[in-house]
Amino acid sequence: MDRSNRRCAGAFGATELAAFVAIAIAASLAASLAAGCRSIARREGVNERGEELLGHSFEGREIRATVLGSGGQSVLIFAVIHGDEPLGAPLVERFTAELRRRPDLLGGRRVVVIPVLNPDGLARGTRQNARGVDLNRNFAARNFSRSAERGPYPESEPESRILARAIRQFDPRRILAVHAPFHCVNWDGPAGDLARRMASSSGYELRPSIGYPTPGSLGSYAGHDLGLATITLELPGRATLDEVWRDLREALEIFVKG
Ligand SMILES: [Zn+2]
Repeated sequence: MDRSNRRCAGAFGATELAAFVAIAIAASLAASLAAGCRSIARREGVNERGEELLGHSFEGREIRATVLGSGGQSVLIFAVIHGDEPLGAPLVERFTAELRRRPDLLGGRRVVVIPVLNPDGLARGTRQNARGVDLNRNFAARNFSRSAERGPYPESEPESRILARAIRQFDPRRILAVHAPFHCVNWDGPAGDLARRMASSSGYELRPSIGYPTPGSLGSYAGHDLGLATITLELPGRATLDEVWRDLREALEIFVKG
């Protein structure tokens, strides 16, 4: 190679380098833009029904929330933490549809609804999740104690971690957990008056205690330890969606209003 060729090659190299740098910057910008879009999409993760993706169950099923309103105060409603209590899901979904139709019910609040916290248990028809853990005994409450059914340590399960994270993320003023089959309104933390009004409206029995110890439960964690008003709404064992909706529609509105 002679000198002129080297010079030529050198000059071409500089141009090429400049072009390469420009392309690299553009590519990097495009990549970070794409990553930004992906992270926004992931954070919002909203599907065609307007539900936000919170995470996945042990078996990889999606756990989603509908978030309505954007007010300063949040309230959280969830159902089917026990997979063999399926009626809570269509009940809270019907309430979600009602809130969409009548946004005045939000009263400037943000309402977060998780219809199914334990999709693996729902698919199997079991109280526990796919690993045999009762998620409502797996929270980081002071009274947590390990066992095969309560889990090896607090929030050992993806589903209980997702709910605990949602509580931290949305910082709800109060929480409503929908269960079955005791046909009553129970509460933990500063929720006695709210529970009484919900029971009175629905005709459900007001029960200060569910009658047995619940170490590691959400009531122990959120109600006792965090001091959040936590309502446990127990649907009847045998009831149709129309029946529970008729009885509870107003009580659910009372819960949102506080
Ligand atoms: Zn339950």
